[in-house]
This record gives sequence, C-alpha cells and structure tokens, in this order.
Amino acid sequence: MDARVPDPAERILAGLDPQQRDAVLAVRGPVCILAGAGTGKTRTITHRIAYAVHTGVAAPSQLLAVTFTTRAAGEMRGRLRQLGVGTVQARTFHSAALRQLRYFAPQVLGGPLPALVEHKARLVTQAGAACRLTVDATLRRDLASEVEWAKSSLIGPDRYPDLAGKAGRRPPLDPATVASVYAAYEQLKQQAGLLDFEDLLLVTAVAIEEHRQVAEEVRARYRHFVVDEYQDVNPLQQRLLRAWLGGRDDLCVVGDPHQTIYSFAGASPEHLLDFRRHYPAAVVVRLERDYRSTPQVVGLANRLIDGAQAGRAGTVRLRLVGQRPPGPEPTFEEYADEPAEAAAVASRCARWIRAGTPAAEIAVLFRVNAQSESYEAALAAEGVPYLLRGVERFFERAEIREAGVLLRAAARSPQSGVPLVEEVIAVLSSLGWSPGAAPAGGAARERWESLAALVQLAEEFAGAAEQAGPAELSGAEGAGGQPVGLAEFVVELEQRAVAQHAPTVQGVTLASLHAAKGLEWDAVCVVGLVDGTLPIQHANTEEQVEEERRLLYVGVTRAREHLALSWALSRVPGARRSRRVSRFLQPLLPVRHPASAAGRGGSAGRGGSPAVCAGCGARLRTGAERALRRCAECPGEVDLGLFEQLRSWRSSRASEQKVPAYVVFTDATLVAIAEARPQDVADLVRLPGIGQRKLDLYGADVLALVTGGSSPDG
Ligand code: ATP
Ligand code: MG
Repeated sequence: MDARVPDPAERILAGLDPQQRDAVLAVRGPVCILAGAGTGKTRTITHRIAYAVHTGVAAPSQLLAVTFTTRAAGEMRGRLRQLGVGTVQARTFHSAALRQLRYFAPQVLGGPLPALVEHKARLVTQAGAACRLTVDATLRRDLASEVEWAKSSLIGPDRYPDLAGKAGRRPPLDPATVASVYAAYEQLKQQAGLLDFEDLLLVTAVAIEEHRQVAEEVRARYRHFVVDEYQDVNPLQQRLLRAWLGGRDDLCVVGDPHQTIYSFAGASPEHLLDFRRHYPAAVVVRLERDYRSTPQVVGLANRLIDGAQAGRAGTVRLRLVGQRPPGPEPTFEEYADEPAEAAAVASRCARWIRAGTPAAEIAVLFRVNAQSESYEAALAAEGVPYLLRGVERFFERAEIREAGVLLRAAARSPQSGVPLVEEVIAVLSSLGWSPGAAPAGGAARERWESLAALVQLAEEFAGAAEQAGPAELSGAEGAGGQPVGLAEFVVELEQRAVAQHAPTVQGVTLASLHAAKGLEWDAVCVVGLVDGTLPIQHANTEEQVEEERRLLYVGVTRAREHLALSWALSRVPGARRSRRVSRFLQPLLPVRHPASAAGRGGSAGRGGSPAVCAGCGARLRTGAERALRRCAECPGEVDLGLFEQLRSWRSSRASEQKVPAYVVFTDATLVAIAEARPQDVADLVRLPGIGQRKLDLYGADVLALVTGGSSPDG
C-alpha cells in the first residue's frame, strides 16, 4: 500500500479505536468482527468500506454491503454518504438478489423476471384446499411461517416432516400434512408462474452456480462483500453469499451471537462463530468498548448475558465496557395491572419530552404486537405523538376489524340485562376466541392476544362507566344514568380508532423487540416483562428460552441513557395478581426493590388504583374517591370540589369534541391539577400530562376553573 495515506482516509481512521482500526486496516481478505451491542460494529464496517475506497483498494461499484432489514440498509447508506462513498451499494439480501435476477432473467429464465408473491396467504389457502383443509386466518399464517422456515433452511417438502421434528418446530398440524400443503403451495406457485421471496434468493444462487457466464459476470462486478448482523444469517442467505463469493475470500462479517433472535425463522449464529474454521487466515476482531450506552445500562446488559446458559451463543463471553459518562440507574417498576403500567409509561415519556428529550429519541419496546394497543391508547391519552415500527396499528389488524364488524352488527340488536363484557365475549366466541390460556404458536397467540386486548377494553370501559357515568365516557348525549351497553362500546372503539390514527412524522417509537435490532434511542422503556410474555409462553426448549433472553438483551442495549423496565401483575384491573416478573429480570432487581410495589407503581395509572384510601385505609366508594385514592373524609392535599368541577368540565369538552374523556385529560392529570392548583401557564406545564397541545386547547379553561373565574361552560 502507498505509504502516504491520503487525507480522507486518515480522517476515517481518526474516528475509530485501536481494535476498530485493526478491522478497517485489514482491507483485503476475510475479517470477522465478533462483538457486543453498541461497540461500533456497524460504524466499523461503514468506515472500512470508506477506507477501502479512499485508499483505492476497492472501486465503489465493486463493493456490496448486505444487511437484513430495509431500514438498516437505509441507515447504512446514510452513513456511507456521510463518509463520502454514497455510491457503494448497501442492500438487503432480497433487494440485491432482485436486482441481479432481474438483469439475468432473460438469460437464465428465458424471459423477464416473473411476478413476485408478496404475501403467501392466498396461495397457502388454495394449497390447503387442495389438501382438503379449511384454512382460517390463523392457520394460514402459521402454515406460511412453516413454509418460510423450511425454504430458508433449504428443506424441501419431502424432508420437512423429519427435519421439522429434529429442529424442535411446533407445526400447527401434523408434519406430514404441513408437508403436503407445502408441496401443493410450490406446485400452485409454479403453475401460476410466480416466485416468492425465498425463491428469489434461491433462483439467484442457482443461476450463479449453474450458469458459468452469469457467475463470471457477477463475480467480475462484485469483489468485496460485507455482511452486518451476520449472527442472523440463514442457510438460504448463506448459500447466496457463497455463490457471490465463488471461492474468493474478500468477505467481512460482523455480528453479536448474543443478539441472535431469528433462530425461529431458520437463522443460526454458527456461521459467525465458525468463521475462522472456514477461513483460517481470517482476521478476527473483538470489540469491547460500548460507545452507545451509559455504564449503568452496560452493567445491566452484562449481568443479563452472564446468566445465559444454553447453546453456543451462551458460551461466548463478550463483556461490554461502557465509555459514556455515568447516567441515571435503570428503573424497575411493578404495576398492579397492564393499563396502570401503560399509563405510567406514557406519562414517563411525557416527562422525558418536557425535560428536553425529543420524542423521536424515545422508544417503547415490547415482546408481542398485541401489547401495543395499551401503549397506543395511553400515549394518545397523554397527547404524546408516536409511530409504530414493524407492528400493525391495533385497530387495523385483521382480527380487530373482523371483531368490529361483528360487534357493530350485534349492537343493532342488544340483549338487555347482559353485562357488556359477557356480550363482547359472546360475540368474540364466534371468531373462535375464548377466555383462559392463550393458545400456543405464533400467529394463533398473536390473534388471541389482540382479541383479549379487546375484551380488556370492554372491562375497562364498563368499570370506568360504573365510576363516572356513561355520558362522560362515550360523549353520547342523553346516555347518563343507563348502564353502558354494546352500542356505547362500539362508539368508544370508533373514537379510539380515530384518536390513535393521527399520522405523525416525529414521535415516540413503539416497536417489537425484534424490530428494534441495530437501532438506538436516548430513552427506552422495555415493558410487559413478565414470565409468559418474556420468555414467551410457547418457548419450550432451553434454547428457545435463551433466545428470549437475547431479545431482552437487544431491548436493554438500545438505550443510550435512560432505561425503564416494567411489568404488571395482572392483565386487567381488579384481577388476581398472579403474574411474576420475568425470570431474566428477577436476579437483576435492585435489593431495595420491595417484593410488591404494585400499589405505588399503580398509583400513576388509570385503573390501577387500590380500592382503599391511601390516607386511612377505608374502602373507597365512589368513582371520584377511587380516582383520588382517598375517601371524602381524608381529602389530603387534593381539592375535592375543584376535582369534581374539572371532571364535569372534562365531560362536556369530551362530548363537544366527540372523543373519550381520557383524551381530554386522564384522571391522573385532573388529580394533579386539583392538588397543585396552578395559578398560571408556567405552573400548568409543570404538571404531568400537560404538553403544548393540551395547553393550547385547554389551558385557559383550566386556569379559569382553578382561579375561580367564570366557568368556561357558563
Ligand atoms: P448493535 O450491536 O446494536 O448493532 P453496533 O455494534 O453496530 O451495535 P454502532 O451502531 O455501530 O454499534 O455504534 C453504536 C454507537 O456508538 C453509535 O452511535 C456510534 O456512532 C457510536 N460509536 C461507535 N464507535 C465509536 C467510536 N470509536 N467513537 C465514538 N463513537 C462511536
Ligand atoms: Mg449494528
């Protein structure tokens, strides 16, 4: 190499620590970076690419960087642009294959690229019918994921029954039947002249393997390969990578075995861990310095991974050493029930925002998508904008839309005397839902959880109506005094769907732990941390349980500074508090944490109130008492008269605006106002649940009520 390193290259090296620099300086030949979260793996490979280009080792067009998600690829392109090498291709395996196959299709397929199967649903249903099966939405999704697993693992229908068993799969039907559906799916697809996403990778690999001209052209074009998140590579992607390389070894892979979270879909960290065996000359670099997170967050991540037991990933020790200045300790909060947890998390997010953290730098992460509904509602109630990543909005999910249609139909001929919740359960039973334990299996469980969340909404709605009177909750005029029924509940659901639908560009991210991989935020809440959710109930084998631990590790290590971990002891208010904190968290709880802080934690949330007075311990009787957590005889600091005035003002605003009352202000915010008696705008914005939007909308009204001016409603 030229002894005189040009300037841009020097600048690139200057932004790296010595180990990262070793990886960058090994510009040719096989390199493996094996390192924990936040140690700069993605940063190192983008710098390595830029360095190779700036020193003339590689032409930008000869480099191909691949990763696993479109977003990660986009992020990589952004970083490459900043380093002055924006023309280098950073793609997902799929988009790289698509581009190549489109080009070679006339040569290898005798015509243009066939149409792609975007979703397997329709073909899987037809394949089921060909096998004399009735395939409902749940079975369809579970069968499609078996087909995807098999194809990603390079397993054809004939070998499926044998290998599915060995791999510890839990197929939705007996393996031989799944294999017949899989075979029928392949046949139907072929007859229709279509390719699915797995075919795209396989056909590209085969085209290179079997057509010498194609191989020569591809290999002349691409000479240097980089793969990020290599711990999650599956056999199909690995085969394509090998076809690209064609025996060459200019490959740089980076990964963290502790972040393997796609084993269920066929991925395996073995390729990463065995890299040296395949490439004995490989430079292997280990990074330890964690540049992302505070030592407090790093300490927790280390302790979490110290507990890892099974599998090869568990045997690799990658300790992180925090490089940032100290920050706040991670918090551990236990709540009485899920709505209380969601409300407290939403108000925590609102506090962070008021304290200066941009909403886009905050994330709420959960294990299953069904958990998002409580957080969508709670954030909407706090007036905090949010975005969903890799999760469908609750009210847009197929099962919730189906349930909505049935509930609306049922509401047209209500049954008198039947409690709301029972009516809702009866309607949902026609969708095959029943209370009790969630079924095993991915899609079936997701669907069950979504519908359970709907029943939970009905329970909350009925409970809140009992406390407050239906006119306040539904905004429906003239409904006061009547017990709430299906019609009011349907109105409530429609209002929630509208309130939660506000599109936002800048907001708190709501994402599943899977979708959060590779990303980082200043402040992160990981929620719902109970056994049965994390680890998920259907994680049976030791290896499956360990994958769940790794998911928590991914979640914890997304936080730069603030990390809040929380869980709830019951699903709904008033239910038996039978849940337990996640087994992964149990050994990490600070000693001072009381055995049960549900009363305290729940105090921030709606619906999480203890049913006794916080002052004298007497049983609480009215909705207002429960909201205040005090009986009328123990008014405490809160001005009970003012609180009542605020509540009636809130119900008239809610019905004017046709929104649920909690969208105006939650009970917790009203309590805070009645306690603090704010005298001006500055006092008001200091209270929880009052951001700029609420201030604009309601500030004048509230101040008029507090300072005893004329009531805004006359
Ligand atoms: P993950 O395993 O979560 O994908 P990673 O190892 O890919 O993490 P990066 O995202 O590359 O880590 O880096 C984490 C953060 O640390 C980024 O904000 C990055 O810019 C910063 N960082 C990495 N290395 C350095 C360094 N040498 N000096 C300063 N900041 C760094
Ligand atoms: Mg990364």
